Amino acid sequence: MENTEYDKFDEFEKGLKQKYPEMYRNVYCGISIGEGWFQIVEDLSATIHQHYKWQIQQGKAPGYPVVAQIKEKFGGLRFYVDAADEYTYGAISLAEMVAGRTCEVCGAPGTRRSGGWIRTLCDHHESVRQSQMSKHYEGHTDE
Ligand SMILES: [Zn+2]
Repeated sequence: MENTEYDKFDEFEKGLKQKYPEMYRNVYCGISIGEGWFQIVEDLSATIHQHYKWQIQQGKAPGYPVVAQIKEKFGGLRFYVDAADEYTYGAISLAEMVAGRTCEVCGAPGTRRSGGWIRTLCDHHESVRQSQMSKHYEGHTDE
């Protein structure tokens, strides 16, 4: 992984913790997704936060749900919270569906690509992946 990419990810994770400290106080299984999905996770976090802010004000919830893990699995987004209500699980399902149509690398419209590691990619990043795979099989990779 390039350093610049790591910095972007670091910034993303820090931003979530700053904006939603209660929800992101203990992501004990970590966050591991591509940059293309950052906006989806941001929007989902904002939606859940807004919902709970209201619930807490009304005395209907004791506190915010805690995010346990955010990751990519079989080309899909997986967003795990410790305990939450129906509204939140609905919002999570929607975000996971949107991510399933969004390139993990750049956020452009994408589709699930099989062959090796299943990922959701746009046409451009699928061709990048294909050329990286063929380089790998030829033994010319320098990673
Ligand atoms: Zn892309």
